[in-house]
Amino acid sequence: MLSKETKDRIQGLYREAIKEMSLLPRYGQRVMIAEIAKALAGVREDEKGERDNDAGIAVVEAGTGTGKTLAYLIASLPIAIEKEKKLLISTATVALQEQILDKDLPALKKHLSLPFKFALAKGRGRYLCLAKLDKSLQHLSGILATVDLFEQTPEEADRELYETMLMKYGKGDWDGDRDRWPDEIERSQWSHLTATHRECSNRRCPHFQNCAFYKARSEMEDADIIVANHDLVLADLSLGGGAVLPSPEKTIYVFDEGHHLADKALNHFRLEMGVRAHRQWLKQLEKLLEQFIAQAGMPVGLMHSLKEAPEHIRVLSQNISLIWPLVMDLIGEKDRQRFEFGRLPDPLRELLAAMRPPLQPLVAGLDKLSDMLQKSLDPSENGDLSRDIAEAWQAPIGIMLAKAEELSESLSWLATEEGEGELPVARWLTKTPYGEDWDILISASPISVAAQLRRNLWSRCYGAVVTSATMTALNSFNALKWEAGLPDWATYERVASPFNYAENGQLEVVQLASDPKSDDFENDVVEWLKEAVDPEVGTLVLFSSRAQLEATRDALIRDWYDHLLCQGYLPKAEIVRRHKKRIDEGKGNVIFGLASFAEGIDLPGEYVTHVVIVKIPFAVPDDPIQSAISEWMESRGRNPFMELALPAASIRLIQACGRLIRKETDVGKVSILDKRLTSQRYGRLLLDSLPPFRRI
Ligand code: SF4
Repeated sequence: MLSKETKDRIQGLYREAIKEMSLLPRYGQRVMIAEIAKALAGVREDEKGERDNDAGIAVVEAGTGTGKTLAYLIASLPIAIEKEKKLLISTATVALQEQILDKDLPALKKHLSLPFKFALAKGRGRYLCLAKLDKSLQHLSGILATVDLFEQTPEEADRELYETMLMKYGKGDWDGDRDRWPDEIERSQWSHLTATHRECSNRRCPHFQNCAFYKARSEMEDADIIVANHDLVLADLSLGGGAVLPSPEKTIYVFDEGHHLADKALNHFRLEMGVRAHRQWLKQLEKLLEQFIAQAGMPVGLMHSLKEAPEHIRVLSQNISLIWPLVMDLIGEKDRQRFEFGRLPDPLRELLAAMRPPLQPLVAGLDKLSDMLQKSLDPSENGDLSRDIAEAWQAPIGIMLAKAEELSESLSWLATEEGEGELPVARWLTKTPYGEDWDILISASPISVAAQLRRNLWSRCYGAVVTSATMTALNSFNALKWEAGLPDWATYERVASPFNYAENGQLEVVQLASDPKSDDFENDVVEWLKEAVDPEVGTLVLFSSRAQLEATRDALIRDWYDHLLCQGYLPKAEIVRRHKKRIDEGKGNVIFGLASFAEGIDLPGEYVTHVVIVKIPFAVPDDPIQSAISEWMESRGRNPFMELALPAASIRLIQACGRLIRKETDVGKVSILDKRLTSQRYGRLLLDSLPPFRRI
């Protein structure tokens, strides 16, 4: 129950925000605030201040224009502060993260009487490691002959950049965040400047007090609101939660763009092993250990592990050499080969399984060596190795340990067989470029992350809000619940958009002669676009396939040369910039875009008055994880088309239609060129889920 005091406080803050920020009060926004506050206030705490009941999770679909950011902040911030929990706002895209950080939070901070601090959380890889910058510069000056680990050393051409970085960081003109450096930094340049957690010597590092990553982390510890992204939250949860971000028990999460949480998690849990890349890595490891022993001698406590290591490496390399012809045979001429029900052929599975016994002692030995090097960096610890040796070898051995651990985890998914009744794991091979040549990746992924999210997130967090403009599919939260493992007891609420769709928007299902399965479709689309689209007005044409976008562009570019901008030919931000400029100058323009233009693009008013959707956006049919899910569902007598493919297409279609009306005064038309919407039974379900445009 919401106490009267908390209720009054939240209502007071809302009134204040409306007045101070000159906003219009919105009914849906009030409903959203009330539902979130009620759910969070229902949390019962145990003696440690952790949640111990089934409450505290609100799933809210907030139609476009609800003002959901303000709603979830007003509802959850006072509760988070009162309960001494962190409010963690997580987004799927950089665009939304920037909007929250640069616009919404500063505006709220300025106008609300509730004081709060906020900070951005990023992964370690986005920050400068001073120790590595120092080493790279020393190497370039010839002071340090670093270990030639990947036959990649800092380039002389980058010396000026590295020196400028050091100077700017030292003067406080740059905070070490890669994204705040004024120019693009190439991946090859950055790789010499950032450290993984295995390379970082933490408190033992001489730069610790001045370290960019740890400075950002301490700001985060001080903040009431932390802004992050889904990938970072998932990475933290897979490390047990509380490794980089606050622990789930002390956190109220807000997952904005929450409909992406499950697919981000699926990607996150995917593991893979490149066959040739691993053969190469084992060679490097062997060479590295030889060099280490030549320089440092055989440390007493590691005599056994280091003596045995070459034999373990030999067995692993031998297995990999036998795996290569097998996978070549299995993949043949194809680019990808998926295994039915995730079952690898026995010979391949047995070879992979046989890699686990020699890998285990190798990981344990590298772990001990890494630990020994870390301790030797610390003058107070009386380590077994000299400080010079520790400084030179701690990072390269850390990298090798991380790779060995990664391989061990991959093998645990690749080489096992699921028991009776367990969900299958998707397993497949993919050809991938490797230098001038190609490699074969052996990949594995769970087909559902529901259990992991339930265990690591929903059952542990203090509270959570999951929100987006499109959470339901075919008017139901079922698909989301299944994919993300959200509990039945959570609060589920739909808040309608305040926009008058029936008055301001029209929807037509165009009856072309052909449907998307026909060979004539491409041509019919071109002819219709020529006839029905006015290039003098702001138009967005959304394609589901790059090939069709390109073919249509080729057919129309001559007629629309000064009025057409296409995804894939210019960066997205540049397309938006040029489009707006043309519309502002009264010239009109048409954008051809793919899926990323169907979501998160905000082109209000005259910028877009006509949205054309070429096809129902069904997922790519050969995605190995989706195929594995369908196969499993069919084997259980379920209907994957109705349960997954159609709901997913429904969400994408709603998002695509959502590009038209961005504010109360917007008007325009949506044309969908896929007549299956009216000719097929499922089409009716899709149409019924769309915003209530006037049908023409
Ligand atoms: S503390 Fe870690 S990340 Fe920071 S400078 Fe030192 S080694 Fe690099």
